[in-house]
Amino acid sequence: LIELDRAHLIHPVASYRGHEKLGVRVLASAKGATVTDASGKQLVDGFAGLWCVNAGYGHETIIEAATRQMRELPYATTYFGLGSEPAIRLAAALAERAPGDLNHVYFTLGGSDAVDSTIRFIRYYWIARGEPQRDQFISVEQGYHGSSTVGAGLTALPLFHAGFGIPFDWQHKIPSHYIYRNPVGEDPQAIINASLAALRRKVEEIGPERVAAFYAEPIQGSGGVLVPPKGWMKAMRELCRELGILFVADEVITGFGRTGPLFACQDDEIVPDFITTAKGLTSAYVPMGAVFMADHVYQTIADGAGAAAVGHGYTYSAHPVSAAVALEVLKLYEEGLLDNGRKAGARLMAGLESLKEHPLVGDVRGRGMLAAVEMVVDKEKKTPLPAAADPARRVFDRAWENGLIIRAFANGVLGYAPPLCCTDADVDAIVERTRRTLDQTLE
Ligand code: PMP
Repeated sequence: LIELDRAHLIHPVASYRGHEKLGVRVLASAKGATVTDASGKQLVDGFAGLWCVNAGYGHETIIEAATRQMRELPYATTYFGLGSEPAIRLAAALAERAPGDLNHVYFTLGGSDAVDSTIRFIRYYWIARGEPQRDQFISVEQGYHGSSTVGAGLTALPLFHAGFGIPFDWQHKIPSHYIYRNPVGEDPQAIINASLAALRRKVEEIGPERVAAFYAEPIQGSGGVLVPPKGWMKAMRELCRELGILFVADEVITGFGRTGPLFACQDDEIVPDFITTAKGLTSAYVPMGAVFMADHVYQTIADGAGAAAVGHGYTYSAHPVSAAVALEVLKLYEEGLLDNGRKAGARLMAGLESLKEHPLVGDVRGRGMLAAVEMVVDKEKKTPLPAAADPARRVFDRAWENGLIIRAFANGVLGYAPPLCCTDADVDAIVERTRRTLDQTLE
């Protein structure tokens, strides 16, 4: 398998770099929060795949829901007025649970095309409003909004930009709220004020009548699990309303229990104009994403443009098997999974906090089952680990040997997003194996 993989299977270069010699690690099976590799080695999956297997692996009722739907009706298009019962029921169930008036749902295959879809819908909205010149988009440094060529321009990873002329000239960014390394210091209100001022400045700079929308994650995931100061999302949402621009909350990671509630926006007490989701929606058993759209946006597009003017759609949008899985996963969230995630999340945060004493640990942050440990060489000066030593890959490899899968970001940040079904023993194993890994890294 390793040879075949090397010869034929393309891995994203970024995450594979450094692993070529060793070859791919083939996962063979999984149950709950534990995965088994092809050699029989068992590991606790501290990252739920790629922050997505929220319900844990091998859940029989999810498997049954998928099988039942495959047997009954494996496919129905949403084109030319067709549909399927699970997709319609899912849209209604999600609309009922989404914050405020986010009553309209568009299904995608994942997060990147959910973000792409919002860009399209937002342009249709402004055209329908008679303001077609609003074609400028703003997002946040350290943000991640997918790797499609258009979405990658909202994403703030230079690695995703090289060679494509992206970000495009209509894609702009303001600095992150990154508390641990913020030029204005760690005071929450000072950080919020700086972000508000930065957005105002950016809108002025672009021209207030040109700006279409602002994108933010409730917690920046791929940027290193950067939790904003409490009230940041609310302040930014309100400023967007004042400036008359649309506000998109990208909940591809934070949605579906990752931070506690079904949507992180509920904890932030905001109702955005759009929410994008994916990952936990189906717990990754099958691919699916969902865009939530507010009543006023939907009505404007529908009234203003007419259906003929809205060109958008995917073959696998609202896939019945994905929808049947999402309906079952939604039931699991409400029948105990969210509660267990909250409990396990508190234990995880307490456990990781206890690592703060470790000489290598500069910062511990997170909310619910989404956390990070930032390693530093010098705690006082917050000196990052030298990139040349490739600390991320070394830590990932050591953690693997210790029976733990975590995400090791290039800047020395260790990311945690375990399945919400974790037992106390799973959580304790994640913390203890991290401690062992950090000790070995120090040696
Ligand atoms: N938005 C956010 C906030 C994400 O974290 C991700 C993926 N990590 C995406 C969008 C893109 O999702 P996908 O990989 O499913 O295309």
